[in-house]
Amino acid sequence: MDTALVWFRRDLRLGDLPTLRAVAEARARALGLFVLDDRLLRSSGEARRGCLFRSLAELDEQLDGRLLVVKGDPVDVVPAVAREVAALETYVSADYGPYGRKRDAEVAERTRLVASGSPYAVAPGTVLKTDGQPYRVFTPYFRHWLEHGWEAPIGTGPATVEWLNPDEVRVRRATIPASGSSGCAAGEEAALKRWEEFCGYGLGGFSETRDRPDLDATSRMSVFLRYGNIHPRTMLHDLARCSSSGAQAYRRQLAWRDFYADILFHRPDSARGNYDRRFDHIRYDTGPDAEEAYRAWCEGRTGFPIVDAGMRQLRAEGWMHNRVRMIVASFFVKDLHLPWWRGARYFMNQLADGDLASNQHGWQWTAGSGTDASPYFRIFNPTTQGEKFDPDGEYVRRWIPELRGVRGKAVHTLRDGRPEDYPSPIVDHAHERREALARYAEIKKF
Ligand code: FAD
Repeated sequence: MDTALVWFRRDLRLGDLPTLRAVAEARARALGLFVLDDRLLRSSGEARRGCLFRSLAELDEQLDGRLLVVKGDPVDVVPAVAREVAALETYVSADYGPYGRKRDAEVAERTRLVASGSPYAVAPGTVLKTDGQPYRVFTPYFRHWLEHGWEAPIGTGPATVEWLNPDEVRVRRATIPASGSSGCAAGEEAALKRWEEFCGYGLGGFSETRDRPDLDATSRMSVFLRYGNIHPRTMLHDLARCSSSGAQAYRRQLAWRDFYADILFHRPDSARGNYDRRFDHIRYDTGPDAEEAYRAWCEGRTGFPIVDAGMRQLRAEGWMHNRVRMIVASFFVKDLHLPWWRGARYFMNQLADGDLASNQHGWQWTAGSGTDASPYFRIFNPTTQGEKFDPDGEYVRRWIPELRGVRGKAVHTLRDGRPEDYPSPIVDHAHERREALARYAEIKKF
């Protein structure tokens, strides 16, 4: 029997995994490998690393301790392990991110890499306009994405292939680092459980309540999707059996994830730079005041309750509700006049679900520099956003102890007085709104 290497990356599960099907079809036995790549670990914060290590520990357990974990640069490590076990092929789920593509191209020069499947329902680069160009606007992409569809889930599991024992391999094995307590639940079992629970209690009302951070109304599946503890195809299969508006709204959210991966695939430069190049000319604030504003934003002490609640939730949980992500990002770019990529970098460091495509393009959408961007003149008012989406003030009081004595929605305006230990607003929103509009007007000519 031949030997194959299964190199896990963003697909830390055994169910519905095309790589396993491919290995079974090749009638090979498999060695499961994960490479602790310093380059990726350095850019992940504690919450994301915690989720990664928990996922790896579970995967190893599912494989009866047969996951080979190795430290190093995958470009060297993967071909070396393949040589050591005389693997004819190394099977992976395709990676479409800028770093992953470059890394895989280099690995493929040294060993035979076979990609099956991807972390997406519809792989980036698949859905194109009739003229062969990528979509730049979500709604037509979404229509085409629905028409294109996806494969049914694949019934793979631990027993799909015969696993080699890494103890028999002469390679220096690393231990899976301790995951600590930060970050969210992770792993395939937790993903399937959470998804089943959410389908039971949350999906029905999703389209009405998904914008409410005070309620437990969204699925919190993002972390599981980040590490591939579940494939979106598994979820879309379940959604197809429900006709509710909630199921339809949820399907649309999953399409956003694919859309942003598609955009980043076609424009890898948009991970760091403006998708809309006119924004290269926008003026940002710099200097000591701007630095102090940046720190106040990170630490949740801007004096705007919904912004501070979101930033404190991010620090505590490594997660933030989508509506609040939009509010704090808008505040960063349009009230503090700071560059979106700085806020995006902080998010990537703090988020357990930090995903380059969704994060950078979520930020660019808010900043107005992205594809399908919110119009530049749409500037969120943090106070009215708070009143609208946290109507009783529960979310703010949960995350800001200083404001727990303020009742109802007055917690957003603090019109009857501000507790002494809660900061005054660091900016005047009406003034900064005018300033943001003036700066946007300056770049229209480009
Ligand atoms: P649900 O509302 O239950 O949605 C279900 C799934 O759909 C999510 O898990 C996610 O995979 C996908 N989804 C939903 N909304 C979006 C969206 N706007 N863009 C892309 N996919 C979406 N999402 C990440 O996964 N990683 C990030 O790093 C990230 N950064 C963001 C930064 C900003 C500034 C903004 C505005 C959004 C960002 N998002 C990111 C998208 C979104 O906020 C999260 O996916 C969502 O809050 C995760 O919670 P949930 O699983 O409960 O979402």
